[in-house]
This record gives sequence, structure tokens and C-alpha cells, in this order.
Amino acid sequence: MEEAQRIQALPPYLFARIDEKIADAKAKGVDVISLGIGDPDLPTPDHIIDKLIKAAHNPENHRYPSYVGMLEFRSAVAEWYKRRSNIELDPKTEVVTLIGSKEGIAHIAFCYINPGDIALIPDPGYPVYAVGTLLAGGVPYTMPLKEENGFLPDLDAIPAEVAQKAKLMFLNYPNNPTGAIADESFYLKVIAFAKKYDIIVCHDGPYSEIAFQGYKPLSFLEVPGAKEVGIEFHSMSKTYNMTGWRIGWAAGNARVIEALGRIKSNIDSGVFQAIQEASIEGLLGNQDIIEEIRKIYQERQDIVIEGLTALGWKVERPKATIYVWPKVPKGFSSASFCELVLDKTGVVLTPGNGYGEYGEGYFRISLTISTERLREALRRLQDNLGKFEF
Ligand SMILES: *Cc1c(COP(=O)(O)O)cnc(C)c1O
Repeated sequence: MEEAQRIQALPPYLFARIDEKIADAKAKGVDVISLGIGDPDLPTPDHIIDKLIKAAHNPENHRYPSYVGMLEFRSAVAEWYKRRSNIELDPKTEVVTLIGSKEGIAHIAFCYINPGDIALIPDPGYPVYAVGTLLAGGVPYTMPLKEENGFLPDLDAIPAEVAQKAKLMFLNYPNNPTGAIADESFYLKVIAFAKKYDIIVCHDGPYSEIAFQGYKPLSFLEVPGAKEVGIEFHSMSKTYNMTGWRIGWAAGNARVIEALGRIKSNIDSGVFQAIQEASIEGLLGNQDIIEEIRKIYQERQDIVIEGLTALGWKVERPKATIYVWPKVPKGFSSASFCELVLDKTGVVLTPGNGYGEYGEGYFRISLTISTERLREALRRLQDNLGKFEF
């Protein structure tokens, strides 16, 4: 049986070759250190787990949850935004619970993309933006994120005839994989652009709480006019070390939230209520954990930035996220450099082109392993590789 065209249209998996090399190295007994994993290694805080255990014992929670999420969870999300950024959200109409934000990101295209419609996609970027668009029969249009523009898309470079056909624009700040941030003036331009061309902005903000040295990322929703043109995807995953729990949300424009809820009610049956109750504890309970997490990532970031800089490698210090996005040396592609490093040191780096063609020339390091292993990784880079030119 031949697969459907929509499956055939999905882009090839670009990490296959490096995955194979990792498996080879492990089979040879190499002690592989992966700096490639974009998934917090720290545990979910105890008070959240305790709440899950209690809530799991309540038989009411064993039945189908409500499709759009418990009102109590959606109210907690609204309260969280209120406390964080003084944003007003109506939990009944402006928040929908998601089975992780990835689920909503994949489904939003089904709400707005007809075959042939365009979605504006940042490159490099989280692959799900383009995948959702392709599955809906749409056409991803690449917005290059270039270092000289601070890894922000250049809206003026988008041709008017493309913008007219565009239904969605995906954005993600603090950004995975570049670590870049966006300020209000950028978002104001985005909002004006979205109004001019009638485009829905889908801002993906899972790293908003993971920022360094006192920097506080903006929520898209706190920018004047944002709610008129779009929504923000967010999640428990990165803020509270809950990637495995699968719970997130979308918040913002009521019409968009309603449409997303309508698609979901026809496809899934919501998130286990005990997980929603535990997440309420996460959102509204003791927030000390966030500062602790920031400190841990900060220490790791220091090790990486100082280590790579001492080696003479080219790297900027990101103000946020759990990533570092250094340049590949002269004479290498992202793939060939990551292969060389793996062969010579057993250290896994993620080739930047896995996030899109404009990721070529970079690689990504994740700060999701212990300081001890990070130091060991840097020692190996220092001891087993020669000097590079940049
Ligand atoms: C981790 C991540 C997500 C997905 O988060 P979940 O809520 O766990 O699905 C979404 N977007 C970006 C950019 C991410 O890095």
C-alpha cells in the first residue's frame, strides 16, 4: 500500500546519519556525551508530583476530561499570566488546554490552512511548524533567521503576494535553536504586518521563564494588539521540568482559541484531569523552582561559553533558553563538523541544518546535562581537536 501524499510530503529526518554514528560509537564502547538533547534532565518538583498522586486517587478524575480542559486549569493559566505580566485573559474563551504545546502547534494549521495556503515559518526552527502546515495541505514559506538581524525574521523581505496568501505566521522567542530574544518593537511590527495582511500570529513561548542575568522575556500577549491577531502557545514542559507529562496551552484571541478547541474536540479527549490538577499546583504554587532552574542552566551556560571561547570558537552568550548556538569553523558543514567531533571526542553536537537550511553553518548545544559531564565534554574538545579557523 502506498502512503498518502501528505505523509510523503513530510521532510526527511535530518538527524538519521548522526543517530547512526552515535549508535556505532556506543557499539564500539565509546562513552558518548550527548549535548544534543532538548529535554530538561532535572526532575519535576515534588509538590507537583505529590498533587498528582492525590488527584490520581480521585475517581472523578478517571473519567474523560473536558475537551478544552478543566476550567480550573484554564483559570490557573490566566492567573499565571496575570501574576507574570499583568495580562487579562478570560479563561472560558481565551485559553485552551493542550496535550503539550506540540499538539496545538501541529493542529492549528488544520483550523486555518486550505490546500495551497501559505504559513510563514522561521528557519532555523522547531520542525512542527512546517509539518503541521504540510499535513494540512499548506505551503510553508521560509522566513530566514539571520545572525545579522539578531535571528529575527525580516518582514520587509516577505513579498506582498506571499503575505496576501499567508494565513499563519509562526514565531518562537526566546528561540530554539538560536537562543535569540525579541523585544516589543519587533512584536509591534509583527502585529502591524498581521493586521495589514490578515494573518494569525502563533507565538510559541515555552522558554519564557528560562532567562539569565535578570532578563525577563516578553510574553507576546503583553504587547498591545497581540490578542487581536494571535495566540501564544506555552507549556509546563520547560518551565517546570514536565516534558513527559504532556500538558500545555494556547492563550489569546478568542476566535482562534475556539477554532483550535473545535478541532481538538473532534480528535482527542483532553488531558488526564489529575495532570491538570498537578499543573495548577505548578502554576500557582511555590515558584522558587524557577529561580533554581535558572541558576542551574546559568552555571552550565557559563561552562560552555567560557570553555568554547577559550578554545577560540565563535559563540554568543544567549540571554535565554537551554541552548547555545555556536558557529561551525571554516571548511566544514554543520554535518561534517558534528561528525568529526563525534569521531574524535565522543561528544554529540546537533547539526544546525536539522532545524532548516538557514541553520547550516551552526550547531546546537543543549544545557541539559550535569556540569560534571559538560566539563568532561569540553575537556575532550580541548584535548582531541586541533585549532580551527572561523
Ligand atoms: C520543547 C518545545 C516545544 C514543545 O513543548 P511541549 O509542550 O512539550 O509539546 C514547543 N516549541 C519549542 C520551540 C520547543 O522547543
